[in-house]
Amino acid sequence: MTDLTKLSIAEARDLLKKGDITSRELTEAHIASVDAADALNAYIAKTPELAMEMADRADEKIKAGDHKGMTGIPVGIKDLFATKGVHTQACSHILDGFKPEYESTVTQNLWDDGAVMLGKLNMDEFAMGSSNETSFYGPVKNPWRRGDTDTVPGGSSGGSVASVAGFAAMGATASDTGGSIRQPASFTGTFGFKPTYGRCSRYGMVAFASSLDQAGTITRDVRDGAIMMESISGFDAKDSTSVDMPVPNFEAALTGDIRGMKIGIPQEYHLAGMPGEIEALWHQGIEWMKAAGAEIVDINLPHTKYALPTYYIVAPAEASSNLARYDGVRYGLRETVEGGGLVDMYEATRAAGFGDEVKRRIMIGTYVLSAGYYDAYYLKAQKVRQLIANDFKMAFEKVDAILTPTAPSAAFAPGEKSDDPIAMYLNDVFTVPASLAGLPGSSVPVGLDANGLPLGLQILGKPWDEETVFKVSGVMEEAANFTAKPAEWWR
Ligand code: GLN
Repeated sequence: MTDLTKLSIAEARDLLKKGDITSRELTEAHIASVDAADALNAYIAKTPELAMEMADRADEKIKAGDHKGMTGIPVGIKDLFATKGVHTQACSHILDGFKPEYESTVTQNLWDDGAVMLGKLNMDEFAMGSSNETSFYGPVKNPWRRGDTDTVPGGSSGGSVASVAGFAAMGATASDTGGSIRQPASFTGTFGFKPTYGRCSRYGMVAFASSLDQAGTITRDVRDGAIMMESISGFDAKDSTSVDMPVPNFEAALTGDIRGMKIGIPQEYHLAGMPGEIEALWHQGIEWMKAAGAEIVDINLPHTKYALPTYYIVAPAEASSNLARYDGVRYGLRETVEGGGLVDMYEATRAAGFGDEVKRRIMIGTYVLSAGYYDAYYLKAQKVRQLIANDFKMAFEKVDAILTPTAPSAAFAPGEKSDDPIAMYLNDVFTVPASLAGLPGSSVPVGLDANGLPLGLQILGKPWDEETVFKVSGVMEEAANFTAKPAEWWR
């Protein structure tokens, strides 16, 4: 008997279609493996009854011949997607007990295609973090360990990657504001995909930095990413920043043929102090692309060094404004003060409800937006953001895709960077530039470091050219032949 949790989405899809397995069987196996993975702390809310109902409905659909890529496929949902009547707190204490009255468009798209929800996934509070250590529900453990030592799964989509790498979901939704899909994918040997800003609706996603937030997917391979991305993508009148563009058949882009394609290598990404293993793997990736017939082109993205500071001004500025809505009146937690008034209630609620990292971002964001500092910080950051976007625009006149490492390190140990915000922020050095420019990007698992921890390479594409990112990712996956799996210590 094959272990159904080890199938890829594509394999399960084909077996479901042929009637060789049912979604009920597939979902039962996954519910058991969700329970068996409790030690990872990936799920903060489980929905097994709902999952079984959805599975039975999917089986009906399949019987009726209404079969799509995601029909009957059990997935996990990052806790920042609103799921009607189901726990949605972006892993913050301030949203205590919040169960939305409505469904996010991304998840609705999945359910319309017949996908099955296993539960809600742990994440950094309000998606602020790179290690999943800021969650109100405690840290997520990476299925991959350094010997007997725990490592972080990356962030903020830590639950998404741990559930998928830990065989407790076939795929997971995630969100990427500055790297939260790609960096944790790199840390866990999974495939992360962030589409062009505007490809997916943000309706029903808890907002962090609205001009950067974009939904995407975590899967175990590239084909599965294409299948799941196609399901969640598309224009939505309920999000004015979603764009009315046809959604291509992403899976059809996986032709395996990149002959003649030009792949850019940004010289500014050769970072001083980057581990030799990551440089070596990047070089290996370049060789694989050459062997597959691509032409390698050195490119320059001259404003790269300003991307991190720009991001850490723009994102907190938007966050400070988005998070103003949590006032103890409209959602979740309320802390009252004996004999106090409304302002005391606001203050007490926000003091108790937000964690340290969220408070830090609110303070930075409020500062850079305040009169007297606005021009020096926020306005300047907006201008630099445009320069960064222009760098990419010019580079993409010469190349079809860009290849870089995903992160400057492999997964680190819990606590290693949590006392040092700058060290933590440096993790995002390769991912934030594309976020600021709104570009599609992926992280493909390509190898292991000397400690046996996974490493990924990042592939970036032109706006709306997700197909090229998928195509190059597919060729990279094939060449890297990354078949290592974590030892299943958590079961
Ligand atoms: N790690 C980055 C941050 O902390 C990115 C987070 C994200 O993409 N949501 O802001």
